[in-house]
This record gives sequence, C-alpha cells and structure tokens, in this order.
Amino acid sequence: MKRRKLFWLFGMAALCLVLFTIIDARLENTSSVIMGGAQGAYVTSDTVTFEDPNAEAEPTAEDLLDWPEVDFEDPSNQYRMVRDETNFLLSSAFIPEDLAEIPGYRLSISSVALPYLEALMDAAREAGFTIYVAGAYRTYGHQNYLFNSKASQIAAGMGIDDYMDPDYQLAVEEARTITAFPGSSEHQLGLAVDLMDRQYSSWVYENMNQEFYAWLDEHCAEYGFIKRYPTKKLLLTGWDEPWHYRFVGKEAATFIMEHDLCYEEFYAHYHPEFTF
Ligand SMILES: [Zn+2]
Repeated sequence: MKRRKLFWLFGMAALCLVLFTIIDARLENTSSVIMGGAQGAYVTSDTVTFEDPNAEAEPTAEDLLDWPEVDFEDPSNQYRMVRDETNFLLSSAFIPEDLAEIPGYRLSISSVALPYLEALMDAAREAGFTIYVAGAYRTYGHQNYLFNSKASQIAAGMGIDDYMDPDYQLAVEEARTITAFPGSSEHQLGLAVDLMDRQYSSWVYENMNQEFYAWLDEHCAEYGFIKRYPTKKLLLTGWDEPWHYRFVGKEAATFIMEHDLCYEEFYAHYHPEFTF
C-alpha cells in the first residue's frame, strides 16, 4: 500500500511538472511580445494586431532631402505663390515697389532680380545664344486687357457679341486656359521673364531653339531663376509655358532645378495645407 501511495505521489508530481513546463512556456511566449515598436512597425501578439500610436512614420525620400530655409515673408516677394485661385491672386493694386528697367528694353523687372537676369543674359550670349527678353513686368491693367481681348475673341468665334450673354462665361473659362486671368500672372509680380534665343513672331515652342532651352534649364538656377511652368508639370502647375522663367534666388532655384521640382511642389513642402 505504501508503495502504491508513493507511486501515486510521484505520478502527480510528474504531471504537475509537465503542466508547469507547458504553462511556463506559454507565459514565456506571450511575455516575449514587445508592446510598442519602432518606425511604425506592426506589433503582433497571438491574437491581436495593432499599430503603435507612438511610432514615427518612416522618413520618405522627400524628408531626407536637405530643404533650404526659406522666408516666405520676404518683402521682395521672391517666394510668393501666384496661381489662378482666390488665395493666390494678386490684387489690382499690387505693384512691385522696386521695378527697374532692363537695359536695352522698354521692360522692367524687380531690382532684386535684375543683376541676376543680366548675368544670365551675359552667360547665354557667351554660350553662343542671342537671348531675347520677350516679356517681363506686366501691370494688372495690361493683363486684364490681354485676358478680355482673348475672351472676346473666343466669344466672337462662338457667335456671341454681348458679354452679358450667359454663354459668354464659356468663352471666359476657355480664355482662362490660354491667357492668365488678371491677378494670376507672375509677370505682375515683377520676377518673371519670358526668354527666347531671338525674337519669334509666333509663340510655338516646338519652333523655338531647343538647344537654347536645354542650356537655360541647365544654367538658370546659377542665376536664381527656375523654369516655372515646364510642360511635364502641367497637371501640377495648371500651366504650360516653357519659355517662362521666374526668379526665386539662387538657393531655392538650385534646389528646385536639381530635384526636378515645380514651384508648387517646393511651396507645398513648407505649406502642408497647400493642395494643388
Ligand atoms: Zn510668361
């Protein structure tokens, strides 16, 4: 009888040991699940999958770029965004304070940009091009005139001669895709120029000297200018004007041109609320 009791006790003890080992192993498994996690990693336990709310997002390629420091309040308006949207329209009263005449032209540009433009033109001439400034500062009134001329020309083509006609609005909307709406032209800002390698009577980019534009695209940033409306960025800028260059200063221009950005993409980095 004593032996049987001992055997029973040993049996129970062995069973307890087995059970303890199993339970301990299970506990070890669950305690090895790390709560939390780094860099947005998903943390899994046996039954739950959740995202760590404290994890920081993986840095994107954009975050890793060394973005220049930019003062968007710069009184020279050098970084001002101008677009055909209420928030970004220039008022009819906006006239740059520091306009200066471009030597040899009856055209003006902001005096901040003028020395850079002159240096760019000298370099283009040295490279063998006959650079020509086809447009620079334009008043609101002049842009208004250009726009209304385009709208009435389109309306006439549609057989509408009365601007009170409700259909005239269709002509206005179409004109908006061809000529900058008053207040939405960077030419009013005094920081934009339309550049050609000689005077062309018609504005057909394909007929212009592509070597000249290739040279400009490579070198404009050295003089603080960017290609503002490249054809390939049409969906982002809303505008296709490959001869239009805009002054933003050397640092921003170099960054924009080196990273193949349009100004909207650059601006959006500093203004997360900005959508385009
Ligand atoms: Zn232009």
